Amino acid sequence: MTIFFISGQKAKARKEKIRTNMPEIQKLIDNNARWSDEKLRQDPEFFHRLSDKQTPEYLWIGCSDSRVPANQITGLLPGEIFVHRNIANLVMHSDHNCQSVLQYAIEELQIKHIIVCGHYGCGGVARVLSSTSHKSTCCESSHHHSSPETLELESSSDKNDDLMNNWLHEVKELDEQYASILSDLPFDEHFDRLCELNALHQAKNVVQSSAFKRARKKGQSIQVHSWIYDLNTGKIKVLDRFYSNSLDTSSALTQTSE
Ligand SMILES: [Zn+2]
Repeated sequence: MTIFFISGQKAKARKEKIRTNMPEIQKLIDNNARWSDEKLRQDPEFFHRLSDKQTPEYLWIGCSDSRVPANQITGLLPGEIFVHRNIANLVMHSDHNCQSVLQYAIEELQIKHIIVCGHYGCGGVARVLSSTSHKSTCCESSHHHSSPETLELESSSDKNDDLMNNWLHEVKELDEQYASILSDLPFDEHFDRLCELNALHQAKNVVQSSAFKRARKKGQSIQVHSWIYDLNTGKIKVLDRFYSNSLDTSSALTQTSE
């Protein structure tokens, strides 16, 4: 592991080219040097302005998936969107991390729009579907011939499964809640609809969060949006509008303080 100590002489440090013996890491450092040079060339005050303070109008709550980067797909610059990402873009009331981000964005940054963006092909949602469909075969499998080593491995992998299953429990509950609509669909369609429903449900969780409710009480105007991103086309679909006639989610999603 390489640790860099940054000296107090910032000006000097900036001029020195950072070198590592790891090409895959060096690439990022070189990219950064080129990016910051280019930004300065386009706008000499860019970093100076941003270092002063941030004034983003948007909070993005999205999936950690590397294919759904908030800034790039919305064409926004650093400083323009406050971002929180986790597996399957969840907004759970028990998640202090997400709830703190919400509170900070609403109370400190006074953001005007909260966008919850899911995406098709979400690995978190896929995991819920696969755990549901494989449950019966999993229980049928025999462990009679397991050695103590295998058992230990199995129990540690069970613990990891518990962590992920616990994280994704709201998606699973959603799948069960809408089973009458979803269970008869072909797998791909079931998968797509559950990704959409999850994005809508998480946006509703934003509306029901205490930070959002407090803001409404104070008369702060914040719009909540539910989107889904299509990995195949790179396009965003607006779900709160898309679903407004078929599911009772639009009223919750369009609530503002006004
Ligand atoms: Zn995802």
